[in-house]
Amino acid sequence: MDPSDTLKLAINIVRSACRISRALQDKMVEDLGTQTKGDSSPVTVADFAIQAVVGQLLDQPFVGEEGGDLLEDQPDLRLQVLHAAQIALPGWSEKELMRAIRLGEGLPQTDSFWTLDPIDGTKGFIRKAHYCTALAYIHENQPTVGVLGCPRLSSDPSSVDGEGALFWAVRDQQAFCEEQPIQISSWLPGTPVVVTESAESAHSDHSLANKVLKAAAIPSATPLRLDSQVKYAVVARGQAQVFIRKSRDGYVEKIWDHAAGSLIAETAGCRVTDLNGNRLDFSTGIQLENNRGVLVAPAALHEKMLTTFEQLPS
Ligand code: AMP
Ligand code: MG
Repeated sequence: MDPSDTLKLAINIVRSACRISRALQDKMVEDLGTQTKGDSSPVTVADFAIQAVVGQLLDQPFVGEEGGDLLEDQPDLRLQVLHAAQIALPGWSEKELMRAIRLGEGLPQTDSFWTLDPIDGTKGFIRKAHYCTALAYIHENQPTVGVLGCPRLSSDPSSVDGEGALFWAVRDQQAFCEEQPIQISSWLPGTPVVVTESAESAHSDHSLANKVLKAAAIPSATPLRLDSQVKYAVVARGQAQVFIRKSRDGYVEKIWDHAAGSLIAETAGCRVTDLNGNRLDFSTGIQLENNRGVLVAPAALHEKMLTTFEQLPS
């Protein structure tokens, strides 16, 4: 498929996904149908419904975060998911729903495939905070089309909370937020740096950014702590200068948590590597086996922070 057709498809799909997540998060009372997965992380009706709708619209196997097993023996939950999915696909049946969710249970079989995080930042979604739907097409082991639908982010880069913003990029072209080209803000040594990092201290070491910036004698502003790949988006549009992530427990990052966001940030002018300075390697299955952590920043700042990080006592 031509990259511009791939992009159009991805944008339409993510817009449908956001209709579902908005409806559920706005209405959300107690019952989001929250379940706990085998890895102890939460999953909601919205995660399943969006994965199903994306499966139906892509109509091919893809690499999604969710699976159908939890729904097989829970008819009530399945019905809740069906009703949520019907926001985008009226008249849908349970059978069609299950088939479409399971299309996303694929593993990378070749070097080109779609990957989806239906609700990235599910913990944020449950807290009524930030989250996004992240869809990317990986071609020859590199994200080449990426779309992030961020329903709680402001489309105005001078504020954070808002009515939603959709970001996209095609490799070697331009990154956009809602039709406006975006780019990073260049780093002026001496000016305070805005860091963005996970809202969840269990997902990323909150003390790291300060340690590195202090050791590098770079002044820092209050960090933007945000769930999901919204962090890549705020760096891509120059609202923050650095996204840093270091897992606390040897956790290996998943491809759907980085494919779309890293492409958008890179296309907007960032350097994107792991904490060893290696490019993210999307050729190793569902996990970024060859990478640990993430560092995203304009090149000069990235270089200074990486060098400083390498010299920190471990
Ligand atoms: P964030 O919103 O930046 O906190 O990242 C959310 C993503 O972190 C989820 O999609 C999970 O896949 C991932 N995650 C889960 N556990 C961990 C962990 N221990 N360390 C790093 N990331 C994690
Ligand atoms: Mg995620």
